[in-house]
Amino acid sequence: MQNTVQGEATVYPFPAITPGHRLAPAKVGPRGHQTVVFVECPNWCTEDHVEWPERYAEDIDHRGATGATWETECLTKPHDRVMSLDAWLHSDAMASDSAMRATHVVLDDETTQAYLTPDMADRVADEIVSFASQLRQLARTARLHNAVNGSGSVADEALQRISGGAA
Ligand SMILES: [Zn+2]
Repeated sequence: MQNTVQGEATVYPFPAITPGHRLAPAKVGPRGHQTVVFVECPNWCTEDHVEWPERYAEDIDHRGATGATWETECLTKPHDRVMSLDAWLHSDAMASDSAMRATHVVLDDETTQAYLTPDMADRVADEIVSFASQLRQLARTARLHNAVNGSGSVADEALQRISGGAA
């Protein structure tokens, strides 16, 4: 009977894990004195918290894989990624702002990161659809203008040469 009581005294209940999370190893501490601890990691987090150590456990944030991406080259810099937008899931469990603690969307143009609540991300998505329509209108106007004036893209110039017999 006494043995059973002693046995129970050494059993520690496994900590409850928040739904949608898993326990993941994370390396923390100053360089040369790092230890591995276990932190709650959202299921969508793809960050390797051991490979990317933080000095303090409070600095650990969670990042998902890039879930949306767009980039463009430029007429004068073909094959260069001159402008881009990437988006991924993010949360910062220790942030003072509850919206930053909650899962949100990061929009990144390689200069600025915009943190968006799900509602903000939906609004941005609607605006990007509208932007796409405006972009097509600009392309249509440019194409018509070039056709009328016989100048513009290499393709238009080639057509002009062919129709003008200059080729
Ligand atoms: Zn994580």
